[in-house]
Amino acid sequence: MPELPSTLGALKNSKFGERHLGERTVKSELRENLICKLQRGDDLFPGVIGFEDTVIPQIVNAVLSRHNFILLGLRGQAKTRIIRMLTGLLDERLPYIAGCEIRDNPFHPICRRCRDLVAEQGDKTHIAWLARDHRYVEKLATPDVTIADMIGDIDPIKAARGGHELSNEMTVHYGLLPRANRGIFAINELPDLAGKIQVGLFNIMQEGDVQIKGYPVRLPLDIMLVFTANPEDYTARGKIITPLKDRIGSEIRTHYPLTIEQGLSITKQESWVERESPIRLEVPAYIREIVEQLAFLAREDKRVDKRSGVSQRCRFRCWKTSFPMPSGAR
Ligand SMILES: [Zn+2]
Repeated sequence: MPELPSTLGALKNSKFGERHLGERTVKSELRENLICKLQRGDDLFPGVIGFEDTVIPQIVNAVLSRHNFILLGLRGQAKTRIIRMLTGLLDERLPYIAGCEIRDNPFHPICRRCRDLVAEQGDKTHIAWLARDHRYVEKLATPDVTIADMIGDIDPIKAARGGHELSNEMTVHYGLLPRANRGIFAINELPDLAGKIQVGLFNIMQEGDVQIKGYPVRLPLDIMLVFTANPEDYTARGKIITPLKDRIGSEIRTHYPLTIEQGLSITKQESWVERESPIRLEVPAYIREIVEQLAFLAREDKRVDKRSGVSQRCRFRCWKTSFPMPSGAR
């Protein structure tokens, strides 16, 4: 890794200067890097099988359109896996103001601490660097997630120490969303998020501000939001507030493998059969096919709950039952 600038002054004179980074949002960054990858003909989602002509082109369109998007699908359809792979479209390193909890853009800091810091230290302000893997935050939505978890809380101790008033933005203890600033924030099972939190999310996306315990806090965050949901929950009335739905630019349906062959490849890739063991594990082709066929049949069977689906992962469980471990082993 060549020497990266460590002060704002050095950063300005580098290739990461204001012209390149100043106004660029995460969504533009993803878009630019995606275009590069498309031009080079890279495999965008290596290891994701069966989505080449269905899901992936829609994700490409969503990223090119700089949309927040949602993946709608039943369990075991590689939704989370795909979302995690989006980090591959981020820059390898991104500069931010050292010590900033919300990883402020050195050219446009949004938190009070950093604005004061840059005003005071100017070009001497310290710069730190973020690896792309640290720019991804994931949260499973559950009904008990609070505004404090997600967005933040007023911290009276911080206020007392700094001698600030409670409404001062220096007293905010940031939640997950601000900490994902300049990165990708993924919320799994969006419909399980309480209406109040959805409103908070929407306000941040739309207006860049939010109320924490009645205090308005301005946070014009720069985030790519990605969600997953079960399609039926997502369309059920009252589960998602309309203004939030309107801000999700692309709705992308995932699916189970369309052919037995795709299913076989996925199962082969994901199953752990090449293990170090005195006993050699061999799964004959006909067993693989039977197990695969079983999942296909189960998905069509009316006795199986359509809302839950039959996960691609069910194969591994089938395998376990077909090939019980020697007693004492786990
Ligand atoms: Zn800051």
